[in-house]
Amino acid sequence: MPAISQGELELVRFNTTEILREIQRTLFPKLVSHVSCNYGRIPTLGCMNRVGDDRYVISVHSLLNHPDTPELVIRHLLIHELLHIEIPPRALREGEVDPRISRKRGEVPQEPLGPIHHPAEFWVRERELSPDRIVAMRWIFEAFGGRLIYRAKEEGIWVRKWRSEYGRGIKRPSIEKVREGLKEEELSGRDMLGDVAEGFEIEVVS
Ligand SMILES: [Zn+2]
Repeated sequence: MPAISQGELELVRFNTTEILREIQRTLFPKLVSHVSCNYGRIPTLGCMNRVGDDRYVISVHSLLNHPDTPELVIRHLLIHELLHIEIPPRALREGEVDPRISRKRGEVPQEPLGPIHHPAEFWVRERELSPDRIVAMRWIFEAFGGRLIYRAKEEGIWVRKWRSEYGRGIKRPSIEKVREGLKEEELSGRDMLGDVAEGFEIEVVS
């Protein structure tokens, strides 16, 4: 799947590359890799690709390339993608529960799913580095819920049937409203993408 897109002209109200540099400097000081970022028509909300020796490109979906996208949302996505460089995919350990298999739905693992991209330590670290992660994801689901599919086994959020004309008609809520709507316990708990996604308009596929 070609996930690296040609970069689009930025329409957000901030300089995404500057934010990426700042995050890398302050939260990932040991990460010496060259990382760049762009917006484009990729299959998922965001992705990170290795493009060479210690060179990476973070891509964020076009849906988010809009003047009404809050900086906080992009900050969270950039932290998440940078974290993938710090915590690379790994094999599941002996006896470790696979979070990609839904126990709630009583699924039985058919075959090994391969390396896991978001192991438990990934979410622990994300919680430390991105305190606004729940607000950011909530904003994304409130703005684009019906257009998103969370695929548990593939560990990602896909954007479906998206066209730029359609994207422009989307009403993006204010981040303050989204934050106000969150209860205390919702802000402190829920780490797994699936848990956060559940209960929204977003389609959850296991
Ligand atoms: Zn990820």
